Amino acid sequence: MTEVYSSRAVQDILSREGLAPLKKLGQNFLCDINIVNKIAEAGTPEGGSVIEIGPGLGALTSALLKRTEKVLAIEIDAGMVKALGTILDGYDNIEIIHEDVLKCDMDELAERYFQGGRYEVCANLPYYITGPVIMKILNLKKLPDTITVMVQKEVALRMAARPGDTEYSGFSASVQYFGTPKLLFTVGPSSFYPSPDVDSAVVKLELKRQFDIAFDCYDRVVKGLFGMRRKTVLNNMVKAFGLDPAQARELLEKAGILSGKRAEELSPADFAGLAGAMADAGIL
Ligand code: SAM
Repeated sequence: MTEVYSSRAVQDILSREGLAPLKKLGQNFLCDINIVNKIAEAGTPEGGSVIEIGPGLGALTSALLKRTEKVLAIEIDAGMVKALGTILDGYDNIEIIHEDVLKCDMDELAERYFQGGRYEVCANLPYYITGPVIMKILNLKKLPDTITVMVQKEVALRMAARPGDTEYSGFSASVQYFGTPKLLFTVGPSSFYPSPDVDSAVVKLELKRQFDIAFDCYDRVVKGLFGMRRKTVLNNMVKAFGLDPAQARELLEKAGILSGKRAEELSPADFAGLAGAMADAGIL
């Protein structure tokens, strides 16, 4: 077992393993034990099961292993996977999967390792794929109970933004099908080696379905209505779903939405109501 809680220790391990941080894989390693412990505590109940995406040199992984019963860690970089073998030597509650998180079958992995039981997702995400990773998780058949992730601060603000906020986007509306994420705390560049150019933040989302309509229908409506941001929801409905304007107007009316509004003014409940009306009309 090796602990990597200083910038010096991270550099020593990298050089011992013949590795260098790869910018293209978003490799900024956490080297601040206080931050690591805060993320692990916020993201996992003691004794639970957890999927970590991008364990890297195992800083967060070690903290998760001490708290939880089982950690499933998915890492794309063969060099990291090899190094983790040495760094995490002595733990028997870890499975390291050498795969691209965007390509692997996470449902199958969770089923195999957690036997269909509850689990959480907790990670310091590679920032170049934050959005796609979160959307992939939200589309899983067996959802985790919670997602607690470190992301770029501006992405965290977007996730938690409310209708009318400048940061509110299609991504905010998609994520908030499951509730409003909590912005837990921000983390400065000095907590990483190498230091990123941006501030980071840890967000937690409890995945509770808020609406009757299925997530994939809801998400199609969000994406359709945010397609052309400057246009009205009416224009976007016509374009995205090939509707004639009268039908689009009728559906909006049914959902109680004024057709001259812009998508950024609609709440998650508005999107859910419209998706419900569209599903009832056989459009989704
Ligand atoms: N968890 C470590 C920590 O906190 O120090 C490393 C976090 S670093 C920001 C992101 C990690 O994700 C790196 O180890 C990187 O190799 C890995 N990664 C990047 N792209 C990935 C992908 N598509 N699938 C799985 N892991 C990936």
